[in-house]
Amino acid sequence: MNIALQTDQRTSGYRLVPTRLQEKLASGKTRCNLCLWRCGLHHGQRGFCQAHVNRNGTLYNLSYGIISAMDLGRIEEKPVRHYRPGTKVLSVGSYGCSFRCGGCHNLDISWGTDALDALARGESRAAFVPPETLVKAAVNSGADGIAFTYSEPAVWLEYVLDAAAIAHQQGLYTVYVSNSFVTDEALVLLRGQIDVLCSDIKSMDDSFYRNICAKASVQQVLQSIKTANDLGIHVETRTNVIPGYNDDNANLAAVADWIHDNLGADSPWHVTRFHPAYRMADVPSTPVASLEQAAALGRQAGLSHVYVYADKGCDCATENAPVSGYLPEWTALHEVNKCVETCCGDEGILLGRYEREANAQASER
Ligand code: SF4
Ligand code: SF4
Repeated sequence: MNIALQTDQRTSGYRLVPTRLQEKLASGKTRCNLCLWRCGLHHGQRGFCQAHVNRNGTLYNLSYGIISAMDLGRIEEKPVRHYRPGTKVLSVGSYGCSFRCGGCHNLDISWGTDALDALARGESRAAFVPPETLVKAAVNSGADGIAFTYSEPAVWLEYVLDAAAIAHQQGLYTVYVSNSFVTDEALVLLRGQIDVLCSDIKSMDDSFYRNICAKASVQQVLQSIKTANDLGIHVETRTNVIPGYNDDNANLAAVADWIHDNLGADSPWHVTRFHPAYRMADVPSTPVASLEQAAALGRQAGLSHVYVYADKGCDCATENAPVSGYLPEWTALHEVNKCVETCCGDEGILLGRYEREANAQASER
């Protein structure tokens, strides 16, 4: 079930929360140390992710308690297969990301420009969801855990840590779905709070990261994954295979070799299918044969658990339905967007009632 949170003036309590890892620099800037951008910001400036702002020398997280979307599903969909299989997880995300991937399917969330600009200007109508309320909704919905996902969770780590602590108190597990462009300091804060890291290894080629994602290097990403593993977090990795970009045998074999040598032969590797989007709209969906070839290379490298996801990536949701479960007061705020029965009938893309109404009003003008 996918749902999006509507923005609404009826929910109050929004507050700026100081950025968890910040340091004053001799230059007069204040540096954020949540992700490896390590943005140095003067008063009034916002970080690359747009989710942190410098106000008079102190950094604040704009997106604390601001939720872009939620989704109740099985943990295998994250994808995570070797931790509490068969259980249900409530996925949640905010706005902003430390990457700008050319094939991102979550642009409204990862860029989150409108939402974060409105928060920075103090004009947001976004619903504020305290961490206790999120955990209560997860428990009410029958979830066994909470997953922080949709964009890089490091960019709202303040909320992730607060919600994770309460989730553990309530007996829920926690999952962190990441691009692993994360500092060691942030990973140390995750220790004991996050049970599972599901991380992308997008390529073993620096130019892929520089050209498609951001200024990241392969070594930075791999080191971050290794550190999380060394901290005792359960780690699973994923590679989205993109035709012509990272699907050559040498690259895929190198990913598999790295997992084998650094995370172990039993470490799960998830091989997923690319579907065209954004700046890579002209790149075709990954042929199933390429996914099977990646899996074969993984097994040749000695990996015991390689999983292939050949979904058709449909995005045809047109029918809206009310949401039930979660919290009673949320039923007026959310709606489920369903694919038509003639397609797959799945509950599909994220769409908030407020956003739909705003779009309708805009098209009438
Ligand atoms: S979390 Fe945002 S502000 Fe902080 S270093 Fe990363 S991109 Fe910069
Ligand atoms: S890391 Fe994920 S959410 Fe962020 S820009 Fe890349 S694909 Fe989008």
